[in-house]
Amino acid sequence: MTEVEDSGEAQLAVRNLEKTFQSGDSPLPVLCGVDLNMQAGDQLAVTGPSGSGKSTLLYIIGTLDQPSVGTVTINGEDPFSRDETGLAKFRNSQIGFIFQDHHLLPQCTVLENVLVPLLASSGPATADEERAMNLLGRVGLADRRDHLPSRISGGERQRVAVCRALINQPSLLLADEPTGNLDQKTANNVGTLLLELSREQDAILVCVTHSLELAGRFPRRGELCEGKLVEKGSEG
Ligand code: ADP
Ligand code: MG
Repeated sequence: MTEVEDSGEAQLAVRNLEKTFQSGDSPLPVLCGVDLNMQAGDQLAVTGPSGSGKSTLLYIIGTLDQPSVGTVTINGEDPFSRDETGLAKFRNSQIGFIFQDHHLLPQCTVLENVLVPLLASSGPATADEERAMNLLGRVGLADRRDHLPSRISGGERQRVAVCRALINQPSLLLADEPTGNLDQKTANNVGTLLLELSREQDAILVCVTHSLELAGRFPRRGELCEGKLVEKGSEG
């Protein structure tokens, strides 16, 4: 299905998104009409109280959960119209995730962890390994390539998770409180890397954070409030 976009060439378009969970016998509306347009290179920080639906929104944009109502269009395509295998392929090639907890594989080295997303396709080639080493160099961890996650610090693990999220050159980078477990200085470093690397790759970055300091460094800022995303200071 091809449709003329009403808003230029938004690479991420969220329209009238609603999500209602079932909580016991009663419905629990969490998202109640979220709209969002983002272009390549746009960077948005999302704040909001605990339980306001930040993770829910990120998971739906990341195609890990389905909307109850409304649409998500990524690079002109509705990913939810795909079957499960197609959706997994789409997600793996277009979307990079960073979670609060790094989710690295403990038995794999730093370099192997960065290469994990490539295992779903043909498996890593020499060029992929070079790109992984480049990314690790960018985050200052090239000399840690053969270390296990247990042998590096929390901030270093999160930097590895950033590299892993970027290895497939996704058009969408989604981060759910990526600095939530880090001390402030380390959090600042990881936040800076996220902003720099997503910009270098011309990816869209949506980052959920509790840190007003980190949010303040994003060109776009929005708050989830009563199920709606309210963007502030969008006049620049
Ligand atoms: P946030 O990330 O802003 O803290 P969440 O998106 O995780 O908030 O959750 C928003 C609300 O939706 C919470 O009340 C949570 O309990 C509820 N919720 C999240 N996921 C589910 C689920 N799978 N089933 C039922 N309720 C859920
Ligand atoms: Mg959350």
